[in-house]
Order: sequence, then structure tokens, then C-alpha cells
Amino acid sequence: MRIILHLDVNNAFLAWTALSLIEKGHADIREEVSVIGSFSSRGVILSRSTLAKEKKINSGEPMYMAKSKFPNLKIYEPDFKVYHHYSEALFNLIRKYVKEVEVYSIDECFIDLSTYKNIYDDPYEFALKISKEIKDTLGFTVNIGIANNKLCAKMASDFSKPNKIHTLYNHEIEEKMWPLPIEKLFFVGKKSSILLRELGVNTIGDLANYNYQILQKYFKNRAKEMIEHANGIDSERVNYEEYHSKGISNATTLANDTNDLDKILDTIRMISDNLSYQLRKDGIMAKQISVNYKDSNFKSFSKQMIIHNATYLPEDIYKYASILFKSLWKKEYIRLIGVSVTKFKESDPYQLSFFEEVKVKEESETILKTIDEINNKYGKKIVSKAKVKSNLVKQKNMI
Ligand SMILES: [Mg+2]
Repeated sequence: MRIILHLDVNNAFLAWTALSLIEKGHADIREEVSVIGSFSSRGVILSRSTLAKEKKINSGEPMYMAKSKFPNLKIYEPDFKVYHHYSEALFNLIRKYVKEVEVYSIDECFIDLSTYKNIYDDPYEFALKISKEIKDTLGFTVNIGIANNKLCAKMASDFSKPNKIHTLYNHEIEEKMWPLPIEKLFFVGKKSSILLRELGVNTIGDLANYNYQILQKYFKNRAKEMIEHANGIDSERVNYEEYHSKGISNATTLANDTNDLDKILDTIRMISDNLSYQLRKDGIMAKQISVNYKDSNFKSFSKQMIIHNATYLPEDIYKYASILFKSLWKKEYIRLIGVSVTKFKESDPYQLSFFEEVKVKEESETILKTIDEINNKYGKKIVSKAKVKSNLVKQKNMI
């Protein structure tokens, strides 16, 4: 059975605008009757505070209507640059724990925990940990729904807000989902729900138990899926591959702030090995490598380069990442170092540039293949490159 989480930021645009204004010394607009939307009277409400919700102001309604409900309404313009910043920070935080993340919208994602059963054996505890970390480190709250598929996870995250975690496992569907009004069923639009009401379908439970032949007369080939959804049946998978278009990154906070180049290069070496492993696992190669670091005052620096031949080799990633780092670094103490790879293509036979030797490549690829085979066989990253290399050297000497 799958374990799927749906995470949704509470009043995302309003919360994120609030945070960026707080940074500029502004009071917290989440404590006001406030909305995000264009000042023009034709604009619509994109997001509203909990206090505005209490005044019956809803997302999607025209600004003039909201103002008529509460004339002193505080209006803030949307700032998508700010929203992207917080959105990225949110998804990066989640990807520290789970790779299988499908970004569904700027403030929503699905997380497939199925393959992490041994690591996060209690999904509720995991959700609690994530939501607490988001609140503590990023400053906003989320709702999380936990279920056995995407549909139910999405339904669960909407149950009651804000800052809540709800489950809607298969055995809870009858109790938790069936009593809800039909309009609450995800995928059922306004037009469909009006027709369903006319057919006497008032709750999700009514639809779940409705006669298929009759429903088919009205909804044609959608009928089957509608009844399935009302029964909480959904087999759609979490499409996390899209993430790859954004890049794979890996960063490490150093045990102590350091300006010891050898130590830093060692860390870059370790990160490069790790990235290479992920690339090989996913059968892709990267054409862009970037390096980033934070100094002891948390000031960030980054630099990137496009390389001639796409690669998954750790020594390539290391070589370019260390060149980038050396060209960027002013010998100051650093706290965190990260490397990321982007611009992917499917793995294919290595094209050699004029400067590279065939032998090195072949040897390197054989070693990596051996490591991957051993790791895949035993399910863990038990063999590192250095060990295999020294074993091979040993064998050669013996012959
Ligand atoms: Mg949201």
C-alpha cells in the first residue's frame, strides 16, 4: 500500500508577503484584515488572512466586493519574486528528506513516502516533523494530508486549516469523506455538482454508491472515474521526475567554520561523489555545474558554468566544482558548501573531448559500474570509490 502526503501552504501569498514585509520592519499583516490582490477594483483576491476569512472575504472574489464587506480592508500587491523564493525554500527543505516530491503548484506538493517505510515508519510523525521544521525555519504554516493515494491526500489536506495534519487512509474513507458535500470532491467542477445535486447526489457517499448505468447517461465516460473517486480510488503516481529539470543539488554544513582549502575540497569531493551517484542512478548526465557557499555571516556566493561534455563522472563534477570554488572564494571562513548539477540529458556513450584520455574514462566507468553493482545488490551505499580503486590496484599488483 502506498503512503502519499499532500502538503499545502496556508494562505501562501499572504503569508509570504507578510514574511518579506516583516524583514523590512513592517508589522505582521497576518494579524490584520488583509488580502493579496491588485489595487484596481477589477482585481480579484488571490489570498486572504484568517481575519479576512472571518469577515467572509473569499479567495477569487472581486476586490470591490471584498471592500464592500470590510471598507478598511488592507490590500497588498502580489510579489511573485518573493513567492518563488519561499516556494523554492519550501521544496528544498522537503527534498532533504524525500526525493519523490511532485511540485503541484507554487505552494503545494505531493510526497511519495512508500519507499521510505523503514526510515519514516510513522507517516504522521514525519508530517509533524516537516511541518514543525517549516514553521520554525521558514516562518509559515502548512496543512498536510496523509493517505494511500494522491486524491485522498489532497482531500485530507483540505479538511480543516491552518497548521493541521489529517489522515484519510483507505479504511477511513467511509467515515471521513462520504459525509462531505459533493462539491468538496476534488475533480468535480461546479457544473457537474449542480447536475449531481439534481440527481439526488448530495454527499460524496451518495455518489460512491450511485447506480453506474444511470450516472453514465449523464456523464458518459467520466461516470466510472467519478464513482471511483467518490470511493477514494486513485492510482495516479507522484510525478517527481519533473524535479530534474530544476537540478540536483547537495550541500553540507561544515562542522566548524573553516578556511582550510583541503578540508573544503574534501567536502566538495564528497558532494561530487554523491551527485554522481544520483545521476547514475537516474541514468542522466549534467551539462551545467554550479557551486555555492555561505560565509560565517551566512552571506551566500555562487557561480556556475556550462561544460563541454555532459557528465555523470564524480571526478568531472569535482574538477569543475573546485575550479568554480577557487575562482569565487576570497579565503574567508565558510560555513556551508554546496554543489548542484543541472541541464540534463539521458545518459549516452561518453563523447570525448580533445583533452581527455580514453583510458582514464574507461577505467573510471568500470570502477563506477562495479560500485553501483555492489551497492544495488546490497541495497546500501557500502562501497566508496576509494576502496574499490585500492582493491583494483591490489589485484593488479598481485597479477
Ligand atoms: Mg495553499
